[in-house]
Amino acid sequence: MSRQNRMSNNFSFIFLALIIALCASWLWQTETRSVQLDYSQVRQLFIQEKVESFKIDSGYNLTLNLREERDDGVKTLHYRLYDFQLFFDDLNELVQQQYALGVLTGYDYPPPKTTNWLEILLPGLLILVAVGLMGYLFLFRSQGGGMGPDRMAKFGTAHTRTLTEKDRHVTFDDVAGADEEKEELQEIVEFLKDPQRFLDLGARIPKGVLLVGPPGTGKTLLAKAVAGEAGVGFLSISGSDFVELYVGVGASRVRDLFDQAKKTSPAIVFIDEIDAVGRQRGTGVGGGHDEREQTLNQLLVEMDGFAANEGVVVLAATNRADVLDPALLRPGRFDRQIYVGLPDIKGREDILKVHAKGKPLSEDVDLRKLARGTAGFTGADLENLINEAALLAARKDQRFIAMEDLKAAEIKVIAGPEKRSRVIPQHERELTAYHEAGHAVVMHALPDHDPVSQISIVPRGQAGGMTISLPEEDRSYLSRRYMEDQIVALLGGRAAEKLCLGDISTGASNDIQRASAIARKMVASYGMSEKIGTVSFDSGHDEVFIGRTMSQGRSYSEAVAAQIDGEVTALVSAAYNRCETILRQQRDKLEAVARYLLENETMEREDFLAVFGEAEPSAEE
Ligand code: ADP
Ligand code: MG
Ligand code: ZN
Repeated sequence: MSRQNRMSNNFSFIFLALIIALCASWLWQTETRSVQLDYSQVRQLFIQEKVESFKIDSGYNLTLNLREERDDGVKTLHYRLYDFQLFFDDLNELVQQQYALGVLTGYDYPPPKTTNWLEILLPGLLILVAVGLMGYLFLFRSQGGGMGPDRMAKFGTAHTRTLTEKDRHVTFDDVAGADEEKEELQEIVEFLKDPQRFLDLGARIPKGVLLVGPPGTGKTLLAKAVAGEAGVGFLSISGSDFVELYVGVGASRVRDLFDQAKKTSPAIVFIDEIDAVGRQRGTGVGGGHDEREQTLNQLLVEMDGFAANEGVVVLAATNRADVLDPALLRPGRFDRQIYVGLPDIKGREDILKVHAKGKPLSEDVDLRKLARGTAGFTGADLENLINEAALLAARKDQRFIAMEDLKAAEIKVIAGPEKRSRVIPQHERELTAYHEAGHAVVMHALPDHDPVSQISIVPRGQAGGMTISLPEEDRSYLSRRYMEDQIVALLGGRAAEKLCLGDISTGASNDIQRASAIARKMVASYGMSEKIGTVSFDSGHDEVFIGRTMSQGRSYSEAVAAQIDGEVTALVSAAYNRCETILRQQRDKLEAVARYLLENETMEREDFLAVFGEAEPSAEE
């Protein structure tokens, strides 16, 4: 062996060690993420106050420290936020409230992103060198040790998931109250069961179907059910899995995903949270979106690349279709959209039934009544409700779940758990009692407001007390009168404090913020002000694209801005006057409700109506 040769041997040995170290840390990184979360679960954890503290690093990795261990012993969870801004818009308000109340003991947001070229280029370079060397080693020194090629291939496919044994049996029966959605998907099921029948007739089957709807409405569940109904393979990946630090990995995962699907055909490829990769190209703050664009391009290539007769259907889910790159929605790609909306009253009853199955309910439980009172709840909320009720019943050593438990769980799902342990000084209780009584009495007097369902001065998650009003039916449009009444109701707390106690508190600041926000929307977005006219001053994108709105700036002049401010102020003060008038006229009712609250802490709808000498209209139809 020549001297020259030995030198290069030593050299490659050092590199081999380096590569192994690199790969080990890489693998380890994927290991710690073995508990798979999706965004709706992350959201629920925050809403249910299960998060004690959290941290988001500059790579947008979210680490959640839970208050209590989960059933599987896990206490720390990881989730990759593909878009920090979405998280921020969605949950920051809650985070601030929970932090102020000590529910969250700490949190850490990432520093603003600056483009550090070294940071972007270095890993890429390192990988290039490493991959190059590895290829060299495999090709020319395959007799040596090191990692086998199958180990390597794993990098590209690590996150592809197939159905677990339990999920394999999910069918349409498990998805309640989504009849139209199921009907639309039935065609896909038929096709997957027997592709040839469709092909013989020359029927065109959509390649891609996009399920669009708010978190928790059952999109993932529906996708699994399609696979279950058709009895075909199901390969799923979440958009947030794609977004890796290393350029090129996402694209190769897409390739593998489709290769696998074609091999197992007929099959469903399910891409959850597709907005993670599918957002419109060329937007967003800062650079560093190359990886995502590569992944998206690969996805487009793959979707164009397979033919209808290959028996693969791609389903994807997103909370918002409006942010998706238009290229994704073109014919031959996701050219069919199915909107998965909030369940209506019948749907809610059916979902409650699905999740109550196998749980012992006591005789007084009326799921239909519960469904009536839970407008706006998603399927996930309802599942949560039943589960919380079961926990409550178990804690009280009951053998059955009673209506009372379900009611308590309903409030808990809406408002977070009670904080009975917090000691509240008497004057603060009094203030809260008048404040909440004010909201309730005003709501009751307003013709276009949802009826009061419960009032409480037990501190809970966000607030010292609360008044819950629930719509009697599902609304899809908000009328001007409805919005005006909302503003009046929000000001009821502050007005009552002033009227009865002669002092005002900061407890109403959130109400006032919300009232002003509604007024501003009415004036500037919905064209509901006569003075300003039927004009909308927002881009319709709701600040999510801060990259875009920032560069666009405001699309109207200072003078118009001042006019808008003037109109907002006028709307809010008119509402406040209405509010005061109502409370003056109904002072005795206000006092009665406040006294009841001080004595009992919580007031149910029946008792509230009794103050007005009214009774609940009969629940029978
Ligand atoms: P999404 O994907 O839309 O965020 P999921 O499919 O993950 O929502 O729903 C979360 C959970 O909520 C499901 O596992 C299921 O238990 C429950 N759920 C949601 N919608 C329904 C429904 N229509 N019928 C029954 N359960 C539902
Ligand atoms: Mg989902
Ligand atoms: Zn209030």
